[in-house]
Order: sequence, then C-alpha cells, then structure tokens
Amino acid sequence: MKVPANNLLRHYNEHQEEYEAKALEILRSGNYVLGKEVDAFERDFARYITTDYCVGLGNCLDALWLSFRILGIGLGDEVIVPGNTYIASVMGITINDATPVFVEPDAYHSIDADKIEAKITAKTKAILVVHLYGQSCEMDKIVALCDKYKLKLVEDCAQSHGGTYKGKQTGSFGDIGCFSFYPSKNLGAFGDGGAITTNSEALAKEFRMFRFYGSEKRYYNKVVGTNSRLDELQAGLLNVKLNYLDALNADRQRVCDAYLKNISNPVITLPKVRRDTQNVWHQFVITTPYRDEFMKYLEEQGIGSIIHYPIPPHLSEAYAYLNMAKGSLPITECLADEILSLPLFYGMTDPELEAVINAVNAFVPRVMEKRL
Ligand SMILES: *Cc1c(COP(=O)(O)O)cnc(C)c1O
Repeated sequence: MKVPANNLLRHYNEHQEEYEAKALEILRSGNYVLGKEVDAFERDFARYITTDYCVGLGNCLDALWLSFRILGIGLGDEVIVPGNTYIASVMGITINDATPVFVEPDAYHSIDADKIEAKITAKTKAILVVHLYGQSCEMDKIVALCDKYKLKLVEDCAQSHGGTYKGKQTGSFGDIGCFSFYPSKNLGAFGDGGAITTNSEALAKEFRMFRFYGSEKRYYNKVVGTNSRLDELQAGLLNVKLNYLDALNADRQRVCDAYLKNISNPVITLPKVRRDTQNVWHQFVITTPYRDEFMKYLEEQGIGSIIHYPIPPHLSEAYAYLNMAKGSLPITECLADEILSLPLFYGMTDPELEAVINAVNAFVPRVMEKRL
C-alpha cells in the first residue's frame, strides 16, 4: 500500500461544499482585500489564541521580520534563536540586519531553555522561540529570562496552532506570536497567509500600518512599510477551517498515538512529549542513525517521508557570511542527519497507519543484517 507523506484533500473533500460555497461568496462579493472576512478572522483567531489582537498578513516570514522591525531591533542587536528550526525564523532576524545567536535543542528538538542564559549579552534584545513540530517550548523558564533581562519575546507559531503549555496557547506568551497559514500547516489556507497575535494595541496598530505600505490612512505614508495582507479569499476559507482546527489537531493526535503505541524498532527513536504541553503534532519526527537508508527503504515500501530540515540554517549557503563552521552546533547538526518525519495528515486510515507501522517495525539496517 502506498502512503503519501501528506494529503490535504482528505479534509477538503469532507467539507468541499462548505469551502466552495465560501469561495464563491467571496468571488461574487467584489471585495478582495481587507474586508469583512479578514476582520472576522482577526477577531476569531485572537479569541482562539486568547490575545487581544490579531493582524492578518501575507505570510509568516513577513510576520517575523515585521516583528523585529516594529520592535526596533536591527543592526548591532542580537536575537536568541534555536539552531534547530526552519530557516524562515532566522531570516526574520537577519532581514533587519540583526545578528542571530543560536541555541542548541533539548531532548524535545526545541530550544534548550537551560542553555539560553549563557548566550545573553549586553547586545541581546529579544528571544525568538519556535514551537517546533507543534510542541511548545519550555515557556516558564523562557518568560522568566525575558523578564529578568528585559528582553522582547517573539514566538514562531508557524507549526503550533492550538498547541498549549500549561493550558496556555502558544502565541499568547510573548510580545508577538507569528503564525503561518501555508497550506500544510495545522491551520492551512489554500495559498499563502500569515498573522500576528499580540496583547498590545500599539503593536497591533503598527502591524496594520506596516502591512499597508506604512500608512494608517491611504496615501498618507508614515514609514516605509510593505505590502503584506491576508486576502479576503484566504481569510474566508480560514474562517471555515478555524471551526475545524481542534478536530484536525485531535486527528493528528490519533495518528501519533498509534505511532507511539505500536512502533517499536530498536534503531528508531520516537519523539518525546513534554510534560504540561498539548502537542498539536505538526510533524511526527523520529530519529535514527540510519536515516538515509531508512528513508530509501520507506520509499521502496511506498511510504512517503520528509526531512524537516536537512540543512540547519547556520550551515546553509545563505548564512555562509556568519562564518559558523561545521561542528559549531553539534546537537543541531546531528539532528539534521538523523531526523525523519513519518506520514501524518487528517483522515489517515487504519490500513495506512498499519502499513507505516509495519514497515517501520520491519526495518533492519544493512550493518545489522550482515551481523545476523
Ligand atoms: C512555515 C514556517 C515559517 C514560514 O511561514 P510562511 O508562511 O511560509 O512564510 C516560519 N517558521 C516556521 C517554523 C515554519 O514552519
């Protein structure tokens, strides 16, 4: 049996009529940018995340770089960021000419809260946490550090819509929460989309200005802004999907529970769930020293898998100018060589789950085969 790494159509097909009716309604409305759908989404998503404000944007990278721009963080400033993350997190910092200061991951693959303090200098202005793979970082410790050193806290929630730490939503801890609605995210649109959440009226106002060429009033431009707006069509479709977010996340939990319960292979290490968190399982990431062989084996069995992510940001060509040699973040680099995301999507069937579980359990790396 073939099992793809992802399949966005399972949810769509179930609610096709509702999505298509909404799309038609918006197409026929004649209003496509900054209208009632965006207003409704901003109101409802802020309520969901339990913040006072939400501002819809074009994508999460814009949410990230605009956050640091608006917080006044730039050349000569340092921002603490996990080494193990998607490169967009780091770009949000460096687009503003600020310097990323990388911190190694903990056993849960997200920033190791116990290693942050040693990296704080007089130049540190902010911490950017990333709730990677849908699991919250250790927010108690991180919030305490931000208070102690008067640092801004920005959360990259591109993978954690609905995820919580001690019952509190990711995206509600920091000065700003940054969300992506890229189609494959837990709350995915039908194209690009993003948003920020905040409790600060002043910050929300700045985002509204920056997303609209730096103007509060059309043609009266206060700052050099950008064009980054969640459009009506995406917002309308997200308004439909937001009603299903908890059900979508619960279904991811069902799949991951089956994996956690039934996968047992001595060469495959399963992901760990942090106490006090509600993981929303953006990815189910295993580690194995035989990763490349394992990935090829799964492919031969018809099972899709993806590496999130094969090259850590500090070693990517884009960041050659940071002059960070291989070996400078050994835990991050080791993960990049050993991680693999198993198939995970809404509506995975029992036969599909079984096919993945059986294939994973039957994997024997060549070095061991020889010994047998
Ligand atoms: C997807 C993702 C982003 C970027 O989001 P876009 O909306 O595609 O710009 C940023 N950070 C993380 C952790 C992501 O997974």
